[in-house]
Amino acid sequence: MKRILYFLLFLLGVYLGLPGPRGQSPTFPTRPLGGDPLLRIDVYYAEKGTVVRLDLEEYVKGVVACEMPASAGLEALKAQAVLARTYAARKMRILGGTPSREDADVTSDHRQDQAWAPVEAIKERWGAVSFWLNWPKIERAVEETRGLILTYNAAPAEVVYHSTCGGMTEAAKDVWIKDVPYLQSVPCNFCSHSPYYNAQTVTIPLSRVSEALGTLGIAVPVSTLASGGFPVVSQVSPTGRVKEVMVGGERIRGLEFRMALGLRSTNMSWAIRGNNAVFQVKGYGHGVGMCQYGADGMARQGRTYTEILSYYFPGTKVTAIFEE
Ligand SMILES: [Zn+2]
Repeated sequence: MKRILYFLLFLLGVYLGLPGPRGQSPTFPTRPLGGDPLLRIDVYYAEKGTVVRLDLEEYVKGVVACEMPASAGLEALKAQAVLARTYAARKMRILGGTPSREDADVTSDHRQDQAWAPVEAIKERWGAVSFWLNWPKIERAVEETRGLILTYNAAPAEVVYHSTCGGMTEAAKDVWIKDVPYLQSVPCNFCSHSPYYNAQTVTIPLSRVSEALGTLGIAVPVSTLASGGFPVVSQVSPTGRVKEVMVGGERIRGLEFRMALGLRSTNMSWAIRGNNAVFQVKGYGHGVGMCQYGADGMARQGRTYTEILSYYFPGTKVTAIFEE
């Protein structure tokens, strides 16, 4: 007889300092005769403005297809599938999670939740041939990890990932202030095949830098930027990423500065050349958690998805939502 680990998700509530499953009796998922329990997830499909109810496993397929290129190694896709399912588990009302909306557990909007699209939309996006070649790989990655999530101390882990770390992943505390025991910096040269691994030069006119600082509420005219008033690095993380800059007497987080300028990473340096700021930017993304190109690199070296996950999330375990 299988039963759901409600206690596990209750612990999640405790871990986040949130109320438990809000006092109501747990609602058990539909259980077809003789089969695995089916978990349904309500997804707000932002592109259409509708709520779609579907099997969690089908949802995970749509997420993996949107969040990682299907060209990645199978074990890397499996690692991504476990992360997608873990993220969902933290959001699903039926599991005592914290939903993103009143009318849905998650949204398909990548700015709010992990990206998702229905299979028909993915087919249209990829084209028929690419879909025929790649979709079975996504299905296999999800089916071979069916019902598995990443846990820490018996609660679903906070799962974050990025494209390319560029040599070292970043500790959560150096990006978002909050320290998380399993989101620490680890060395990673598994992503050296990424197009973002080596530093790339990005030239931005000082007028655009001035505008970007304006969006952060800091008024610095171009003339000031050109004559010694350009932002200076005031804090660097142990991995060399820009943690904080000072400009116009204000301190701003490296992450905010990077986002305002539309740069790929805070692993950056810069110099002023005439009317331009010339940035050298290495890696792609915040650098915390799983490096996706790194996961692909590990998969290509024969590592399994459990090895990949325990490398990027040390101290976590792959656990079944349903246990025997
Ligand atoms: Zn990496």
